[in-house]
Amino acid sequence: MIKTTYYQDLTKMNTFGMKVKARCFVEYDSVADLVDIEFEELARPVLHIGGGSNLLFTDDFKGTVLHSKISFIEILNEGASPEDPVLVSVGAGVVFDDFCAWAAKEGLWGVENLSYIPGEVGASAVQNIGAYGVEVKDVIHSVYCYDTEEEEFVKFDVSECGYGYRDSVFKDPEVKGRFIVTHVVFALTRNPQPKLDYGHLKEAVEAQLERSTGGDEKTLTPSLVRKVIIRIRKEKLPEPSVVGSAGSFFKNPVISAEHFAQIETAAKSEHGADYRVPHYDLPDGTVKVPAAWMIEQCGWKGRRSGGAAVWDKQPLVIVNYTGEAYPEEIIGLEKRIIASVKAKFSVELHPEVEHV
Ligand SMILES: Cc1cc2nc3c(=O)[nH]c(=O)nc-3n(C[C@H](O)[C@H](O)[C@H](O)COP(=O)(O)OP(=O)(O)OC[C@H]3O[C@@H](n4cnc5c(N)ncnc54)[C@H](O)[C@@H]3O)c2cc1C
Repeated sequence: MIKTTYYQDLTKMNTFGMKVKARCFVEYDSVADLVDIEFEELARPVLHIGGGSNLLFTDDFKGTVLHSKISFIEILNEGASPEDPVLVSVGAGVVFDDFCAWAAKEGLWGVENLSYIPGEVGASAVQNIGAYGVEVKDVIHSVYCYDTEEEEFVKFDVSECGYGYRDSVFKDPEVKGRFIVTHVVFALTRNPQPKLDYGHLKEAVEAQLERSTGGDEKTLTPSLVRKVIIRIRKEKLPEPSVVGSAGSFFKNPVISAEHFAQIETAAKSEHGADYRVPHYDLPDGTVKVPAAWMIEQCGWKGRRSGGAAVWDKQPLVIVNYTGEAYPEEIIGLEKRIIASVKAKFSVELHPEVEHV
């Protein structure tokens, strides 16, 4: 079925909770319905959304918003031995965390660290979502799309998806919007493969294992890891159904080693000689600095500006604090943060969240 509505309220379709409307909204249930849509006749521009959890609507949308409800999870092959990958095909409209919950229940490893990331399966393959040391590209086998220009179906093997940090070929400005993800095939495994190297995840999982089973490692399951991940995320991040946000608002900047040395010298004279600026040295000699640290150093953590605010437990997140914030208030706060980080560190922050 294809459902078309006009002047559709999008408030509940974007996790920021921006009170905006779409001139035309088209929702389809199946691949057959998608093919039946007359793309040439849709009001322009056309935007395909998932759960709206990486979007900031800056105004009413003048064109057509598309949404997929293709919802299936199907095991394609079990593999002859437990070491073989289990290929699972998942519709683009499935809520990503519902898929994680399903996989954990099935005893399948691979997506447990990605538990509780908002959004849908189609967008996960566009965004290359990541958390706790895992990116979805690590478990994607192939991505199936409908090419709206050539009007044909295309399969992208994972090696053809151009995956990088929260990036993919589907975000390339030259093709953006052309390929609609219909379903994604994931390669999971029944062979226990916990990925616990990130931060204090291992300690948290061991503590949970101790509480639930007296520390018996044989009882380590994807469900247990998922439980720990969800608990950690709930402690740190705003719950979209309670406080609107789009998660991390800014990308972490990458700067030269000389520039980083200047920042560190200034930080040591401000906080003392033992102070360490958090950072990651990249293989090409550049340095990635957490934007959250810079924002906090500029005094933004927990600060409000009209209906918008910087989340007090994670300054990388801008929230719709009152639930009534206008896009202008979010953008105003974004601009003020960018300006103060630039003034203090000579670093230009760029938004991770897509502005539409
Ligand atoms: C509280 C919170 C925490 C978050 N934590 C994380 C995190 O830990 N890690 C992380 O990586 N992200 C995180 N995010 C960001 C967000 O959840 C992801 O970017 C997610 O993949 C967005 O999915 P969505 O379905 O909401 O997509 P949307 O925001 O609706 O769309 C995102 C992009 O995908 C495109 N798109 C959507 N569906 C399709 C489709 N079927 N075909 C083609 N293109 C499509 C859209 O056009 C858009 O460009 C968080 C967000 C929130 C609100």
